[in-house]
Amino acid sequence: MVTRPLSARGLTAARPFPALDPAGIGRDGEDLTWQRDAACRDADPALFFPERGTAIHRTIAAARQVCAACPVAADCRAFARRHHERFGIWGGETEQARPRPPRSRGTRPRRDRDARIARLTREGLTAEEIAARLDINPRTVHRARARQRSEPGATAA
Ligand code: SF4
Repeated sequence: MVTRPLSARGLTAARPFPALDPAGIGRDGEDLTWQRDAACRDADPALFFPERGTAIHRTIAAARQVCAACPVAADCRAFARRHHERFGIWGGETEQARPRPPRSRGTRPRRDRDARIARLTREGLTAEEIAARLDINPRTVHRARARQRSEPGATAA
């Protein structure tokens, strides 16, 4: 299990997965009990959402090492594919290795949410604080930040 210091970008040690309710049920009724056994529960989520740079390969390798020892890697990988997770390392699989999600026309709500995340990030809130305020998963915050970093002309958030 990896416990790392806070990242240089000021992220708190947010858990990659949300705290589960006792039933382990997602908002849409999906069974998420497998997340209780996630090897990354106490890891720095930044490890699983590496930024481009000289250390990216080392970061990916470190994340994949955690995933390799994770008892729920298959569930995690299936979850990421089912939800078309575009960013991050899930089940040891990088975003490049995952099948491309189908293009969606209904991106407005996500754009609005991303804009709120960007604004709160600029205000200095941590990923966990943003997640709590918007009632979303901290991973969603990291995904939105990754999308924003990948946009042309983006500057470091
Ligand atoms: S496979 Fe990796 S990302 Fe998925 S739950 Fe396990 S450690 Fe976390």
